[in-house]
Amino acid sequence: MYQLRLDSLSPDARVALLTELSAWAEVRECRLATISADAEVLYLHGNLSPADLDALAAWSGVAMVSREDARPQVLPAPMSGARPAVRMIAGPCSVEEEDELLELAVALRNAGAVALRGGAFKPRTSPYSFQGLGRTGLETLARVSAQSGLPIVTEVLDPRDLDIVAEHASMLQIGSRNMSNSALLKEVGRAGKPVLLKRGMSATLEEFLYAAEYVALGGAPEIMLCERGLRHFDPAVRNVLDLSAIPALQARAGLPVFVDPSHGTGVASLVPSMMLAAAAAGADGFLVEVHAHPQAAWSDASQALPLTHFRDLQPQVARVLEAVGRTLELPQDLSSPSVEAGRSHNV
Ligand code: PEP
Ligand code: MN
Repeated sequence: MYQLRLDSLSPDARVALLTELSAWAEVRECRLATISADAEVLYLHGNLSPADLDALAAWSGVAMVSREDARPQVLPAPMSGARPAVRMIAGPCSVEEEDELLELAVALRNAGAVALRGGAFKPRTSPYSFQGLGRTGLETLARVSAQSGLPIVTEVLDPRDLDIVAEHASMLQIGSRNMSNSALLKEVGRAGKPVLLKRGMSATLEEFLYAAEYVALGGAPEIMLCERGLRHFDPAVRNVLDLSAIPALQARAGLPVFVDPSHGTGVASLVPSMMLAAAAAGADGFLVEVHAHPQAAWSDASQALPLTHFRDLQPQVARVLEAVGRTLELPQDLSSPSVEAGRSHNV
């Protein structure tokens, strides 16, 4: 089975291409199939010679030809040389009260966070747990962003919410539970925003990279991978943070690898050590849950760092980074014009 990804074509050009390709396939005893008249992908079932494949790849209107067993091929190649500055993204698990969130955002920014992460649509194990404030939460995030100067990272759970989430956020998060949701992965790039893709809690690195490949094929301008811990047998910690995933992923693809020590442990007291270890292991960024009053958080209270701990951690992280030849990215200057729009600048 081969997959043919088409260029975007006028309806007439498409019909002409399909007619030519069908005749070509028939001569080779292959079947050409498509899921709809305007689908951007065609399937060729049968056996093709290397010369046939070359001919298809050079066909006008055909953007890409891949075999069923193709490796990820549109992700950038591993980076060589110096890696970019390390980005700190922080915020509460869920968007709750606006005043408190604004105060937290300003404090996080002053403590070195370059973006505010807060969930409006929350993926929860139990249907009876708090599910997030949805659209109201997105509106809160947008106002907090405009006032604090911090761009917003927030999760999109459902392709039907993609437009509204993208309207309010600078970066879209795909959570662990959705890393294998290929329908969402295919759609998310359409928003034209950077995507923070979290590793499935039981996903292999190969599955993780294929998920990133879906997002890249969908057209996302930038993809950040995020290691967030793997499911395991010991109830002492929520997940086991796989720090070896940092260099292993960096060796396979030229994408920044973030680390989420909050979900990675589920225990606030373990977060600082894991952040320092991740910094030493080459992490390109952090996603860390911080709350003004952790015990009162509406979700994930046990893993939220109090603000003071986050503040104290910053210089330590900076020192570890310095030791491994890296630097911490600073929040954009509030006076810079790109911050005026609040939620429109890049993270
Ligand atoms: C989150 O980041 O708030 C979250 C739900 O994380 P994960 O998808 O890693 O469980
Ligand atoms: Mn959380």
